[in-house]
Amino acid sequence: MSDVRIDDLPVRDELRGQSPYGAPQLDVPVRLNTNENPYPLPEPLVERIAERVREAARGLNRYPDRDAVELRTALAEYLTKTGGHRVGVANVWAANGSNEVIQQLLQAFGGPGRTAIGFEPSYSMHALIARGTGTGWISGPRREDFTIDLAAAEEAIAEHKPDVVFITTPNNPTGNAVPRETVIALYEAAQAAKPSMVIVDEAYVEFSHGASLLPLLEGRPHLVVSRTMSKAFGAAGLRLGYLAADPAVVDAVQLVRLPYHLSAITQVTALAALEHTDTLLKYVEQLKQERDRLAAELRAIGYDVTESDANFVQFGRFADAHDAWRSILDRGVLVRDNGVPGWLRVTAGTPAENDAFLDAVRDLKKEQE
Ligand code: PMP
Repeated sequence: MSDVRIDDLPVRDELRGQSPYGAPQLDVPVRLNTNENPYPLPEPLVERIAERVREAARGLNRYPDRDAVELRTALAEYLTKTGGHRVGVANVWAANGSNEVIQQLLQAFGGPGRTAIGFEPSYSMHALIARGTGTGWISGPRREDFTIDLAAAEEAIAEHKPDVVFITTPNNPTGNAVPRETVIALYEAAQAAKPSMVIVDEAYVEFSHGASLLPLLEGRPHLVVSRTMSKAFGAAGLRLGYLAADPAVVDAVQLVRLPYHLSAITQVTALAALEHTDTLLKYVEQLKQERDRLAAELRAIGYDVTESDANFVQFGRFADAHDAWRSILDRGVLVRDNGVPGWLRVTAGTPAENDAFLDAVRDLKKEQE
């Protein structure tokens, strides 16, 4: 073993003393900590993936389609069918998870000497990817109840004039969606201040009570909507994220993407999953019901719950959230401590997993009374 530490290496100053992103990957009976879909892919889809991968394997001596045209076409069809707005292949870009989509966007529109803002608590990777791309990070405000205070947010945008504005809706880890009018107002504030790019992260939108913000793309060339197959499609292991935007945005990310970034295996696997969209999205309805059940039962037990439009629920309040996280873990259930003081987050799992979680927190409540 080497005893050289990161800080002994000539790493960039902003990486010194930092730790990598890491939800603990613990071997626990019930894992409800990373907002995954609890259902394995259906067997006919597994078969279809095997078939398409076998076919693609014969061509692995060649580089994959660098522009992933067939996949982007299928994603555009999915968005058009479900998002209430017509998008074509030129509007869509795909990468290895929406994290990579966000990284490419920050490489293209952020970078040294530039800044990005997000309204926190929100998805912590936005700030981490900003740091990784040398983009300055501004932590924008939220109210006590985790909604965005429009006036305060507009003021922050006017003051800092960020190059990139992140709006996560439904938000992670709090679960609440951002009203359409707020997004429109923030876009306008961002255009008046800079103009900047506005990234609407819709990773959880399929679980929302409301509609996608895709129709807002019309006439807003600085707006980007990012999506993922990790949640609603139940394919976190696939690593496939995508965006919809003006074709010029797609041209811009192509300036920074690595050539052949999406392997041929990834492309055909995602295509196979998209062939089974209807079956996969059936689980979404079931998970929404379980999400609502979790929220109702948590309230009945006596916890506070943040209104959720996602496949998870934020609950509290705890005098010490980390202690509570540990007590729930001791009862065999892994939830997430996102570092929001007083609150924890639980992903909607199967009914049996959710029952196990509810038993654990009921138990915890009794112990704390
Ligand atoms: N955006 C948000 C808001 C998320 O919560 C996540 C995953 N936790 C992602 C993006 C990234 O997802 P992926 O890279 O798996 O597409």
